[in-house]
Amino acid sequence: MTTREQGYDAVVYDLDGTLVDLAVSWDTVTSDARELFAAHGHETDDSLWQLLDTAREVGLQTELETVIADHERAGARASTTAPCATELPLAVPTGVCSLNSESACRVALNTHDTAGAVDAVVGRDTVPERKPEPEPLVETLDRLDAGSRAVFVGDSRRDAVAAERAGVDFEWVGAEGP
Ligand SMILES: [Mg+2]
Repeated sequence: MTTREQGYDAVVYDLDGTLVDLAVSWDTVTSDARELFAAHGHETDDSLWQLLDTAREVGLQTELETVIADHERAGARASTTAPCATELPLAVPTGVCSLNSESACRVALNTHDTAGAVDAVVGRDTVPERKPEPEPLVETLDRLDAGSRAVFVGDSRRDAVAAERAGVDFEWVGAEGP
């Protein structure tokens, strides 16, 4: 039996590294993303996150999202469970707030029969902002009808900062933190 929700009205999890480990080669995703840009006359060696920002400026946002989300959904189908998967279901409203596409989050949850334990899913393409900005987490909490007595559980510094900015507690996956 888990005690994760003790003292909280809602719990929100990050996805990758927290509930599941996506089988995604981010080097391959980045390479494919750069190829998309090159095919449209934009040679670049930017990182994937930089490309996501640039895509809005050069009109490739939809196509780039498709490239990344295809990899993520395949990686979600082939994913393994991460430490927090065994905590589900919880006794309080439960959400997922992820930098991965919302569709990939849903595939991952379905793959491990945990979709029914999650009441709200907010992915990279659900709201315009991305973690560590607070908006995706705030949106998740809104969908759970949760107040500030909530906790966000994640495995990255971005997650910790998002929780701080959203005004909720944060717990690292595992005991040690980063
Ligand atoms: Mg993560």
